[in-house]
Amino acid sequence: MPTYVVLLGAPGAGKGTQAKRLSQALGLPHISSGDIFRENLKNQTELGELARQYMERGELVPDDVTIAMIRERLSRPDCAPGAILDGFPRTPAQAEALDKMLHDFGGQMDVVLYIKVSQQALIDRLAGRWMCRAHGHIYHERYNPPKQPGICDVDGSELYQRDDDKAETVKHRIEVYQRQTAPLIAYYRERGLLVDVDGEQPIDAVTAALLAAVPQRAE
Ligand code: AMP
Repeated sequence: MPTYVVLLGAPGAGKGTQAKRLSQALGLPHISSGDIFRENLKNQTELGELARQYMERGELVPDDVTIAMIRERLSRPDCAPGAILDGFPRTPAQAEALDKMLHDFGGQMDVVLYIKVSQQALIDRLAGRWMCRAHGHIYHERYNPPKQPGICDVDGSELYQRDDDKAETVKHRIEVYQRQTAPLIAYYRERGLLVDVDGEQPIDAVTAALLAAVPQRAE
């Protein structure tokens, strides 16, 4: 049976950073809906053009488009052993669609890891966040700086600040999270799938806590 792990948390909670680490530790692909949209934007695809108008305003891309995109991604061969999902689901309709698609793929959700961070810390983190052009590796100018300013430690590509990390957009993204995504916490808690992790610990301690919460599957 494939292993599916979902990372839940507000923008800036550390989902992307932690998903990359879990992906390496567990040998499962990291599927980030935000990264897929940014890739499409960069390549000026039709999907990218559609997503742009929503992303620029800090709104969510419509469910039908996002669900179809994730279904296609999860159906590829590299996801046969499962996946680490980062940024999806973000609405109740997406959560229900995900249950259905995992069932179709012969699996089910193993665990939903909820990374909890206070509102002030989120704003602080997003304002100082830098991302690499090549693969979306994530840094913070104070909390997780690259060895050389402006250059990715992993692949040497240029670091940039996301357009939607601007102060006004950040505030709106957090409101959108509270309204549309936070209800998923109760949804998954009721199903006994949610594990809470304190996201304000040092990065390595958060990774250890997340890994400890992933059920070990017998081979
Ligand atoms: P992220 O990198 O996860 O913060 O996502 C960046 C932006 O992409 C979001 O603000 C949304 O506009 C869009 N996006 C990412 N994931 C989703 C999703 N699951 N549903 C709708 N929109 C999304």
